[in-house]
Amino acid sequence: MTSKRIEGLWDCSYCGQKGVRARFDRCPGCGSARRADTMFYLPSDTEAAALSEEEAAKTSAGPDWLCDFCGSLNRSDAAFCKGCGSAKEEAVHDYATLHGSGYGMN
Ligand SMILES: [Zn+2]
Ligand SMILES: [Zn+2]
Repeated sequence: MTSKRIEGLWDCSYCGQKGVRARFDRCPGCGSARRADTMFYLPSDTEAAALSEEEAAKTSAGPDWLCDFCGSLNRSDAAFCKGCGSAKEEAVHDYATLHGSGYGMN
């Protein structure tokens, strides 16, 4: 296995367009927003789909983060939770407060 990032694909459930790249939040065919429950899949030709370093830098830079307040999964480049609007820093800080070594020292 290589460490190359592979861009996932998704199919538009509205117009049936297949193989829309994961970077697009909307279908280039009909303009419909990607549904929240859209399933991604890997292209059969992963070599062709591998992102260049430049492309990879444009996509999310790290793992998704889980909002501690509402439990929404957010993209790593999202500064605020899409579910409740909490700032990412707040959520991360709270996570450390709740689960860090300081717990129970009261
Ligand atoms: Zn479409
Ligand atoms: Zn949230």
